[in-house]
Amino acid sequence: MVTVRDLHKSYGNNEVLKGISLAVLEGEVVVMIGPSGSGKSTFLRSLNQLEATDSGQIVINGWDLEDPKNNINKTRETIGMVFQHFNLFPHLTVLENMILAPVELHKKTKAEATSTAMALLERVGLADKANVKPGTLSGGQKQRVAIARALEMNPKIMLFDEPTSALDPEMVGDVLGVMKDLAAEGMTMIVVTHEMGFAKQVADRVVFFADGLIQEIGTPEAVFDRPQNERTKDFLDKVL
Ligand code: ATP
Ligand code: MG
Repeated sequence: MVTVRDLHKSYGNNEVLKGISLAVLEGEVVVMIGPSGSGKSTFLRSLNQLEATDSGQIVINGWDLEDPKNNINKTRETIGMVFQHFNLFPHLTVLENMILAPVELHKKTKAEATSTAMALLERVGLADKANVKPGTLSGGQKQRVAIARALEMNPKIMLFDEPTSALDPEMVGDVLGVMKDLAAEGMTMIVVTHEMGFAKQVADRVVFFADGLIQEIGTPEAVFDRPQNERTKDFLDKVL
């Protein structure tokens, strides 16, 4: 589903990704943990080319992103991305936010997009908020709308970059609940998070990222209970 080989990226002379290789299988949930500044967000952004990389190969759904025949916009449509900050348009209603991309890109008629949007809002527990502006929602509700909006394009893979870290603690559970449901339905997901409980419960594999490299990768049991790498042990001692 996603294959990354020896990915490198520098900002000036700051080498942020120092050769990342990772294969994510269809339906797999990979959780990435690691210290601040280690390159996790840069890596996620590289996957849909929000960030240009220096060398290495990225293949998503069989499309090599470097292949000139590949249309990056087509590939991007198959990748849903959810950020720490929800990036909803404040002047549009929840429903208008959701149907904007598919209608503008002529993927769906307004009626089709509205009907999927309502089903998705139902799924994240916010059908009654379709016609309000995002400003009237809580952080957790906004984030659930952002997830529903990403799903509206029918992605094959979902990338999450610290989706709960800007939320008040009591909102975190609802958002993680929506993500757990998605995982259970078989969505392929790469999730950067500090929610170790979520990682233990939902991840098929956990990646420990530090200094621009994957230091350790394995099942949650292997990484959390029997870390092999000193960097992983130090990090887990601080966060667990
Ligand atoms: P955090 O846990 O704090 O979100 P992170 O692991 O996501 O950290 P990145 O945001 O990927 O880390 O940043 C990795 C490094 O790249 C940092 O040293 C950061 O300063 C640098 N960096 C990130 N974006 C840019 C940019 N647009 N221009 C220059 N340097 C950048
Ligand atoms: Mg980050």
